[in-house]
Amino acid sequence: MNSSYVVAKFGGTSVADFESMKRCAQIIKNNSQVRLVAVSASAGVTNHLVSLCQNDLKLTQRNEHIEQVCNIQNSILKKLSLDKDIADGFNQTLNKFKNLARNIDPTEKEKDSLLSFGERLSSYLFTQVLRGVDIDAVRLDARNVLKTDSKFGKATPNICATKKAASANLTTLLSTKVLVTQGFIGSDQQGNTTTLGRGGSDYSAALFAEAIDASAIHIWTDVVGIFSTDPRLCSKATPIAKLSFDEAAEMATFGAKVLHPATILPASRAGIPVFVGSSRAPDEGGTWIEKSQTRHSGIRAVTQRKNQILLTLKSPEMLLASGFLAKVFTILAQYNISVDLVTTSEISVALTLDNAPNASRPELEQECLDLLSEFCHVSVENNLTLIALIGSQIQLQQEEINLMHVLADFNIRMICHGASKHNLCFLVEQSNSDHIVQSIHSRLLEA
Ligand code: ASP
Ligand code: MG
Repeated sequence: MNSSYVVAKFGGTSVADFESMKRCAQIIKNNSQVRLVAVSASAGVTNHLVSLCQNDLKLTQRNEHIEQVCNIQNSILKKLSLDKDIADGFNQTLNKFKNLARNIDPTEKEKDSLLSFGERLSSYLFTQVLRGVDIDAVRLDARNVLKTDSKFGKATPNICATKKAASANLTTLLSTKVLVTQGFIGSDQQGNTTTLGRGGSDYSAALFAEAIDASAIHIWTDVVGIFSTDPRLCSKATPIAKLSFDEAAEMATFGAKVLHPATILPASRAGIPVFVGSSRAPDEGGTWIEKSQTRHSGIRAVTQRKNQILLTLKSPEMLLASGFLAKVFTILAQYNISVDLVTTSEISVALTLDNAPNASRPELEQECLDLLSEFCHVSVENNLTLIALIGSQIQLQQEEINLMHVLADFNIRMICHGASKHNLCFLVEQSNSDHIVQSIHSRLLEA
């Protein structure tokens, strides 16, 4: 379409309240290349919506969550005076939300509609905030552009259909206006609302950028880039100025919470650089993620992902048998389960799955376990943490020998290295994991 446009995404904390929204408006005002803006729901809203998706919630509890969502919107609303087009759209959307949220027994399809309201509401208010600083902003319904399949809760985008819809609907608008749209949501072929999974707004921004052939994606969040580890855990963690797409993808996948793991896919497919910075401190720089030009090697970051499930499947029949793994993975695929680490022995396979708190649906369903139990012995362990060392060309050299010294003090449940030169992963007990990450960071990443 036009490769000079920038897509900006503002996360939940960046649009949490009126003051935060104003700071974001200034960022857009300062960069005339920013033409498409994807916003998250205001901080806290999606968690309430996830609660409202529970089928067994009492009406009083429902009303409490509804009220909390309204309170968050109202505190922004009272600082704004809405133009007629925005007021009409906002009020209609809020009413639709209240009606649907009172429904005691939502279907999967209705749950995605419910989850979509956070972004649908915040995008109205944000559009008004932009107009308040004289930006010619219009709100765009993401569902008219971002096309997906019908897997409610974690829909897969249809890239071709999205590109087609973008060139049909956005070409003229983008040349004159700033379009404010919603992250996280899309629609299927039948026009039903779908969502991309928790944290999916980053992914949306990258998909929009790919669809309009943008020159960059700016992800504005509450930290000044991606750090060598979580700075709340290690005070000596430092922001990383440049990462390759591969490294960033590994970091996002293995627990650096700054980016949704899928974000890098469209960006690297289309070769669009991604910037991650803080909307509170836009001048402090951030991390640029792009195609790697420099050849550095070694470990650059350590991440952790808590609440992991270890699934161990044992079958005496695996001995010298073929097809066991195929059978296992077919069933997991049927339930749309994504596996992270895998190790095998002669008669067993161990796999890790993510069990993210506040996910819009549980990762491992009983039905799936029952199917697996039909042909193997299944054991499920919880409360584990996956720790990942991320970098380039990680080889078992000096750094890894140092690592083994650090790990010697701890109980390691599983270890994986080899499939990619960008990571080395292992599984530990959750109660120990913060301490292990601190030890690794101080031994391997602090100068
Ligand atoms: N609002 C959604 C969530 O909290 C999507 C996002 O913010 O990225 O998961
Ligand atoms: Mg996020």
